[in-house]
Amino acid sequence: MKQFQAESKKLMDMMINSIYTHKEIFLRELISNASDALDKLYFRSLTDDKVGMNRGDFKITLDVDPESRTLTITDNGIGMTEEELDNNLGTIAKSGSLDFKQQNEKNEDIDVIGQFGVGFYSAFMVADQVTVDSRAYGSDQAYRWQSSGAEGYTITPCDKETVGSVITLHIKPDTEEEKYSEFLDRNRIASLVKKYSDYIRYPIRMDMPTSRLKEGVDTSAEDYKYSPDDYETVMETRTLNSMVPLWKKNKKEITKEEYNSFYKEKFYDYEDAAHIIHTRTEGSATFSALLFIPAHAPFNYYTKDYEKGLELYSKGVMITEKCKELLPDYFSFVRGLVDSEDLSLNISREMLQHNHQLRLIARTLEKKIKSELLNLLENDRATYEKIYEAFGTQLKFGIYNDYGAHKDVLQDLILFVSSYENKPVTLKEYVSRMPESQKAIYYACGETKEKIDMLPQVEAVKEKGYEILYCTEQVDEFALKMLMQYEEKPFANVCADDLDLATEEEKEALKQENENAKDLFDNMKKVLGDAVSDIRFTNKLKNHPVCLTSEGGVSLEMEKVLGQMPGNTGVKAKVVLEINASHPIAETLKKADTETAGKYAKLLYAQARLIEGMSVDNPVELSDLICELMTK
Ligand code: ADP
Repeated sequence: MKQFQAESKKLMDMMINSIYTHKEIFLRELISNASDALDKLYFRSLTDDKVGMNRGDFKITLDVDPESRTLTITDNGIGMTEEELDNNLGTIAKSGSLDFKQQNEKNEDIDVIGQFGVGFYSAFMVADQVTVDSRAYGSDQAYRWQSSGAEGYTITPCDKETVGSVITLHIKPDTEEEKYSEFLDRNRIASLVKKYSDYIRYPIRMDMPTSRLKEGVDTSAEDYKYSPDDYETVMETRTLNSMVPLWKKNKKEITKEEYNSFYKEKFYDYEDAAHIIHTRTEGSATFSALLFIPAHAPFNYYTKDYEKGLELYSKGVMITEKCKELLPDYFSFVRGLVDSEDLSLNISREMLQHNHQLRLIARTLEKKIKSELLNLLENDRATYEKIYEAFGTQLKFGIYNDYGAHKDVLQDLILFVSSYENKPVTLKEYVSRMPESQKAIYYACGETKEKIDMLPQVEAVKEKGYEILYCTEQVDEFALKMLMQYEEKPFANVCADDLDLATEEEKEALKQENENAKDLFDNMKKVLGDAVSDIRFTNKLKNHPVCLTSEGGVSLEMEKVLGQMPGNTGVKAKVVLEINASHPIAETLKKADTETAGKYAKLLYAQARLIEGMSVDNPVELSDLICELMTK
């Protein structure tokens, strides 16, 4: 007996002891495996005459035998070699599912089965023994894989006339809670196929009990009355699925549930999609697309492990599972598929990259996704905000990346929480209610909205009646800097120096004050050295005594972000210490002697840094200075 690989054994244990209520999904998983195996051989048959099969020959056959309590799933697909049986069924393919399960160990209810589908192993939810007889295409010898549980499995040679696989499940005995025998009922199986596997492109066939008129019953008399005795029940082979892929069906005939169960099964999500796009385009590119915008970011979304892409089909046959050329990075969160009549089935992955048709499709999809998002933004804000919460960061990166090449596509899709309504607003909304006197779109950066509200400069702008956008993510300011302006209104960081909120007289008075205080500030600057590039009075602070602002292209917030990046080149913001001209501290400064003014400079600078959320270089000195003042 061979041992399961450790992870598989865990998964097997989970399956065997599962209390999962939708055990029925095992059938969907096995049928989907069979369909994949058929795809592989069919694909091969297109270029390899030796396969000797036509499209119509490929099928999946189900059978039940209540006597021996077995359910079999047979396919004439590609099959597995001895080695493949060992590798594919002894090892867990979707190792991600188990990682996830373990991360959520505390929450046992998180239902890994529903979330990811667990493939082949789900058979052990309903079977106490599973046998796989398989003969690989191109091989003369078939092999039998068999397992009765987590202890292990055996692989032995067996006889099988044809290429393909037969999976035999020995269904568990019924218990108080679970009536496993339902999986031996043909009608029940037929309805499960309809429910979960209707769109499988190959016929799923099963013998079904059918009632028909007995032979020899003469019904020719005009007033003949049929009686139940005239009928007999015979077995008739039927195709259980409609074989029309979901995306090829008429939109009107598809329920939301159908879309979502398709989505969840195919893309391993546990939550319904936030938005579904089902479209057919005809013209320079002819294709159907079925796209889903997830309601939450996959757990690996913001890591390098996440691969964007859509499934690509040509006339209903899958060409590739992840065609990344179909999606721009900023819409990488979109899942789904494209089915086009324009692509040749034999197209190679390399050729896809340069395919003109594919580029046309990608461009059409990008426009479509954008217009759907804008439509949600206008007509279903709650859904849009949900999507934005999950993927907004990606959209903002999209603005920043490629030197702003996509900013026009994306600028109307981004949201910032605003000081007006304390909820996310678009730039369009912001600009539409700017008072005439307001020249710029104001934003402020910080870790949280609360911290931003504590910034002295924010108060002054709010005081003026202007709205402020809160930038709480690192990418925010970089994106805004890349945009530079929106509808010809420039962006202004309230903590940068170029706000220009004062009237001409106010400006003149301030200029005078600063000139008068030139000696004082020169003295203070000498004490602070390189730390600041300038010190001056300001009238933009209402109650607070001091603040730090930055001059030039790099703000203090950007300095923080850039400083954390690998290979940081020590980019520094040009810092100005601004002192509130109407605060009593201004008078105190003016009266101070040179030595005291120097100490005050250190104190004020340290305070301003703390308010900005930065550290002070010399806390001991600061503490000594404060004590000195307190004991004076
Ligand atoms: P997944 O289908 O997600 O890869 P499974 O655990 O369901 O994971 O299956 C593991 C692998 O076993 C499949 O990828 C496939 O290579 C192989 N396999 C399963 N069922 C069949 C089958 N009926 N015919 C051929 N290969 C199969």
